[in-house]
Formats: sequence, C-alpha cells, structure tokens
Amino acid sequence: MEEEKSFFKDDTNSLNFVVISDLHNNKEMFDKFMEWCKVHQEILDVCIMLGDMENYFHNRKMETRDVEEMEKRVIDRCKQISLLFKLILFIPGNHEPPMFYHASSLQISDNVFILHGSIKKICEGLIAAGVGGCIPGVSRKQKIFKGYPFNTEVDFFNFLQSSQIEKLAQYYQSSSTSSISESQLIDDAVIFLTHDGPVHSLTTFSMNEDHIDSLGSVALSKFLLHSSHSSLLNHIEILLHGHTHESVGFFGEHIVAQEIAEIEQVQYFDQKFGEYSTNIDEEGVPTEKPFLPFTANCCSLTLGYFTTFFMKKIEKRWIVEEFSEHFL
Ligand SMILES: [Zn+2]
Repeated sequence: MEEEKSFFKDDTNSLNFVVISDLHNNKEMFDKFMEWCKVHQEILDVCIMLGDMENYFHNRKMETRDVEEMEKRVIDRCKQISLLFKLILFIPGNHEPPMFYHASSLQISDNVFILHGSIKKICEGLIAAGVGGCIPGVSRKQKIFKGYPFNTEVDFFNFLQSSQIEKLAQYYQSSSTSSISESQLIDDAVIFLTHDGPVHSLTTFSMNEDHIDSLGSVALSKFLLHSSHSSLLNHIEILLHGHTHESVGFFGEHIVAQEIAEIEQVQYFDQKFGEYSTNIDEEGVPTEKPFLPFTANCCSLTLGYFTTFFMKKIEKRWIVEEFSEHFL
C-alpha cells in the first residue's frame, strides 16, 4: 500500500475534533454551529461532517435549479467551515446531491477532503477511513425508504470490498503476520467515519412504542467483522456515524437498557444475507457476539461532539462533550 502523506506535521500530539451530522439544511442550526466554532476557533483542528447537510431526495424528481442551489449551499458551507478549521473530512449522506459522491472531480478547498470508500492520513499514527451513503431503511421488515447510493446491502458490501479501506485492511492483515512488522502504519489508530451506522451496535437501535427496529447496515458490520479484517478492527479507535435519527448516543450509553430488555429478541433482517437475531441480557446489551462497542451516533438529535485525541501512544483518549445545549 502506498504510504500517504500526513496532513498535519509529524510532531502533532494532540488534535481537537468537532463532529457534525444531519443538519438537513437547517440554517438556524448551521448559524449556531458557526457561532460556536468562531468562539472556539483557536482550539479547533479537524471538523468531521458525517453527511445529510441537505435534503436531496434520490427517489424524487428534483428540479435542476433546486439541485444546483443545494450543491452551491453545501460547497459554500464547507468553505465557511474550512476557514475555521485546519482540516475538514466530509462523508456524504444519502440526502446529498450525487455530485458529492464524485470526490475526485470536486475540489472544494485545499483542506476539505470528501471520503467515500477512501482513507486520509491525518497525522503520524492516525488515519481516517470514510464511507458515505446508506442502505434502504427498514421498519418491521418493510422497506420504508430507498438506499443511496446503495440499493442493497450487497451493493454496499461490494463497494467496501473494492475500496481503499479494503486495501488498508489487507495491509494491516498481512503486516500482522509478516516478520517485518515494524511498519509505520502498524500502530495507527483508525477513526472510521460513516453516514449509516453498523447493525450490531447500540447506537443504531430504534425503540418504538411496541417494537424495536435494529437499524444500521448489515454489510458494514459484516465488513468490519470479517475474519480477514481482524487487524483493521483492532486498529479502530472509534466509529462515528450519523443518519439514524431515532437512536442517539456515544457507545450506546443513551439507550434505555430496560426498554430493550423488555423485548427478548431483537430481530435483524436482511433479504440477501438472510434473517437472523440476537439475544440481549438484562442490561440491554446484546449477548450474541459479535457486537460493536465503539460506535457513536452523531445525528442532529445530539448534533455534535467535541472530541480530543491525544497521540503518540503516551495517552490516547476521547473527551466527549455533547454540545446539543448550544443548539437548543
Ligand atoms: Zn441519512
């Protein structure tokens, strides 16, 4: 795998991240976000945008003029944000116009990078891997909205398998068994950035009055948990996702465990990969492995997290501050 250049200097040992997701063209929220960033500008390093900045509908006929307006607005907002941060990582959502899925032909600004099936080396020891879009939405086993750009879980899985992220996974896997394992990439932490979250995660459950939907993508979980990706999995420090407005939380801690526990079985359903289910214990934690414990849902319900990352293997931890209060 080609060694990619770091965005930040080699002696970087701490970076501050702000994550926003699912603004859905809410101008008031955007203005408040910008106000907050201006006040804190001195400490801001990286802005992670997890998609659905807009309200584009891929299953409806959209007027060309409206689409152009959306494209312009996203670009304009990215540019505004790019003036306050050193680096922007933008993961397109299913409500972004198609233009944002063609990252290679779109240059917004020198410090804005669109990640879709691709990776970006942030600094020595830290890599971001990003994938946008979503699979079809399902409730009670019925399709309730179309996926974009993935019509099925299989599409999503195939996309991941042919992506740069797969190459990174293979690189880690081969290095873990190779005798020359002193590569620079080996001790990297990976932050995995997605629009749709993975199934098997407490941050993609949706609790309804009489049933629970387990949302998130089976393909994404299957990819992460694939036996040939165990080395990649070991490198993932955190997976940040948006999209699932019905479910929020950091590592699933906002989930009301009791409510989940009342329902003995949570059904996961996918037409191609087949239906299967998992059991949960009295704390509401799925007992059936595998289960992904490191996800954070950054949807508009909590809107964002302020995160600090300490590098160089001396100290590595995440400080999470919900700043939803700034937006209410
Ligand atoms: Zn979405």
